[in-house]
Amino acid sequence: MWVDTHCHWDAAEYGQASATWREQAGQAGVQLCVVPAVARSNWATVAAWAHAHGDVYALGIHPLCAAQASTDDVLALEQALRAASGDTRLVAVGEIGLDAWEPAQQTPQAQAHQQTVFESQLALARELDLPVIVHTRRAVDRVLAALRRVGVRRGIAHAFSGSVQQARGLWAQGLHLGVGGAATFDGAHRLHRALAALPPQAWVLETDAPDIAPQWLYVPRAQREAGVAQAINSPAQLPRIGREVAARLGMAPAAWARLSTANAVRALPRLAPWVAAA
Ligand SMILES: [Zn+2]
Repeated sequence: MWVDTHCHWDAAEYGQASATWREQAGQAGVQLCVVPAVARSNWATVAAWAHAHGDVYALGIHPLCAAQASTDDVLALEQALRAASGDTRLVAVGEIGLDAWEPAQQTPQAQAHQQTVFESQLALARELDLPVIVHTRRAVDRVLAALRRVGVRRGIAHAFSGSVQQARGLWAQGLHLGVGGAATFDGAHRLHRALAALPPQAWVLETDAPDIAPQWLYVPRAQREAGVAQAINSPAQLPRIGREVAARLGMAPAAWARLSTANAVRALPRLAPWVAAA
């Protein structure tokens, strides 16, 4: 059995069929999914999803939603987290972080605002003693500096795609590294080096579905431009992704399924009763 530490089940790609997609993932061997939020507008949705489908969730403001968020939203997040503190399906603050890739968000003002929204959420996580699920696209060093500054020492650097040195820095800070479909590409040499360099205890599995299709689902740009639709990724792909990651780690798939689940519980301790119950 496998745990998907990052899936956006409320994404438009699944629409009305999300329950069917979830069932297929269960049949494929995925026992539990962590559903991160992206903005105030979907906090209630991800919580309701988790309760309805036996999954768990996180609440936060995604860096690409930070531009629309105000200090009022951060206050609302604090209230929502405190209100959900007795909800055992709430497992983290997330998805939060920094994104230095999305072109529209690269003005100095947008970056400064992202940083403020991120650090105030880190402070909330520390105060409420919750782990974080962080997005670090092209911004690993700045995320790590913020984690150090605020003193957050537990969580997941999701969709990790940095260098070996950056992986070591996050791991030394106490964060686990999320790996998924990106590792299935033959050309992902930097990620493969990081997988080989860090201990297997450092990694947790995720799909980031419906994004980050594995190599076998990926539709190259030329085909997309010719009208072929990008395939929708889903947690049903996680066992196959897990087997490929196991090979990179030099582990048997069953042993890696057990270890990656144990790693997920270390990163997000509130997963423990749900993993045991599944
Ligand atoms: Zn995400």
